[in-house]
Amino acid sequence: MPKPVVAIVGRPNVGKSTLFNRIIGRNLAIVEDVPGVTRDRNYADAAWEGKQFHLVDTGGFEPESEDPMYMKMRDQTTLAIEEADLILFLMDGQEGLLPADLEVAQRLRAAGKPVVYAINKVDGARHEGLLPDFYRLGVDTLIPISAQHGQGFSDLMDELTKFLPERTAQPEAPDEVTKRVPPRIAIIGRPNVGKSSFVNSLIGEDRMIVSAVAGTTRDSIDSVYKYYGREYVLVDTAGIRSRGRVSQGVEKYSVMRAMKSVSRCDVALVLLDATEGITEQDERVVGLAHEEGKGIILILNKWDLVQDKEEGYKKFVDDVRLRLKFVDYAPVLTISALTRQRVTKVFDEIDRIVAEREKRVPTAELNRVFENLTARHEPPMYRSRRVKYYYATQVGIKPPTFVLFVNYPDGVHFSYIRYIENNLRQAFGFHGSPIRIYAKRRREEQTAEERTRPAAARGGRKKKT
Ligand code: GDP
Ligand code: GDP
Repeated sequence: MPKPVVAIVGRPNVGKSTLFNRIIGRNLAIVEDVPGVTRDRNYADAAWEGKQFHLVDTGGFEPESEDPMYMKMRDQTTLAIEEADLILFLMDGQEGLLPADLEVAQRLRAAGKPVVYAINKVDGARHEGLLPDFYRLGVDTLIPISAQHGQGFSDLMDELTKFLPERTAQPEAPDEVTKRVPPRIAIIGRPNVGKSSFVNSLIGEDRMIVSAVAGTTRDSIDSVYKYYGREYVLVDTAGIRSRGRVSQGVEKYSVMRAMKSVSRCDVALVLLDATEGITEQDERVVGLAHEEGKGIILILNKWDLVQDKEEGYKKFVDDVRLRLKFVDYAPVLTISALTRQRVTKVFDEIDRIVAEREKRVPTAELNRVFENLTARHEPPMYRSRRVKYYYATQVGIKPPTFVLFVNYPDGVHFSYIRYIENNLRQAFGFHGSPIRIYAKRRREEQTAEERTRPAAARGGRKKKT
């Protein structure tokens, strides 16, 4: 079940980013900080009473150009109508209802997507007398809020989440896979890196059949691709192939589309332009897949244009390792969608990553490695107390997820998690996939018992050498 996308639309200065921050504020703790991704971010995972969704502040996508305000709003609205599952239309109660608001409201209504209407800045006195004006919009439910101070916030969230599906449990993959489930592949990247060329080059292949299957969300059409008898579902290929029709202005915002595709995939193919190097937008797109815990392959496309292949490869890989450090587990492939060079190699790599993501490490084996690594390198102290690591266990796959049992979860330092991750990768691989590591407090009675027993008698990782 893909997470629905909720887009905030509204004139500049109505308080979109203030509201955005308030909505994600409570969830920030569970969102991993990824360099390059958190910087000026305008999309994030959010949840209200267990219902999860992607939240996008369309205002954050405003290009630096001199576009008149109306243009920007039109672009944003078009984008939200095309890509979002639910639209939050925000107006300014201190400014009153403006013609631009009416125009947007009209278009939203015509599009037939669910819309929640909210009037912001309903604090202080300036809004009084202006509010009745908003009934000219002709909508039944108008929610007055203050994004800054919080009034009406939970009413708004309750209304919003009425439109969202019930939380669905993450389906655990069965231990015994009898039939190969075709891996779901998202092809993402900023505009012009060659996504549609890549898909078209696959479709040109002889040994491949493409058929459209209905995607799980409205207007997303997936294709099934066959390579040496194995099937792959290419997520949202209709969107990629028809991209030519999308206007340039809207195309800038394709990160919203990427977000949707990524949430439905197992492995994300991130296309990069080998002639241009890594851009900030690339960092974001890669960050999306990383945060969602998806397998990642970095694909340097347009390799045919690179003159000095050896030098070019070295330079690009250095760039990747520097700017995309947080995905140092992701393989880098060079292809040319134009000449089809090495295009199908991608699928061998996908198979490998899919297998790595499903790997389960037996607890005994895991703890042999774990004991070794904690013994070799003392964890940093926490408020002048020792942070003790008792044991580790793998609690999930896709992505592989581990829980460390410790005495002070708050004292687990980021750098130490990094160290553990590196060691787990060295021992067990997990090539091409993020892994997740959480620290949990060992159960209360055990810590209590711990206090009453002499150190030498303790079990856990403290072995007698
Ligand atoms: P955006 O351009 O729509 O993203 O708007 P911002 O979130 O940047 O807010 C624009 C201005 O309105 C800022 O100065 C905010 O402090 C202010 N603002 C936002 N929400 C509220 C609110 O609930 N009440 C009041 N009084 N001001 C607000
Ligand atoms: P998209 O926006 O990511 O779907 O990118 P397109 O597939 O539309 O490609 C953008 C431009 O790059 C087009 O002019 C393509 O012909 C060109 N292009 C795509 N892949 C390659 C490649 O491997 N080599 C070369 N030389 N050009 C390419």
